[in-house]
Amino acid sequence: MDRKPNRHHFHIHWSKNQRLDWEGFDTRAEATARAIELAAPGEMFTIEEVSATCSVCGPKAVSAN
Ligand SMILES: [Zn+2]
Repeated sequence: MDRKPNRHHFHIHWSKNQRLDWEGFDTRAEATARAIELAAPGEMFTIEEVSATCSVCGPKAVSAN
């Protein structure tokens, strides 16, 4: 794949840590599925939609999966 174009994407927001997970997702459904995998029992999360100016992905290169 080429570099990701600038577009909206999704991050998991862990309520406990009050920060966004580093991993970005193309769809809310993917992010939700991953969050459910990662979440500890009772751990709360929300899925945040972010724009191209994402503070998590930032200027760093996004490596391919
Ligand atoms: Zn991001």
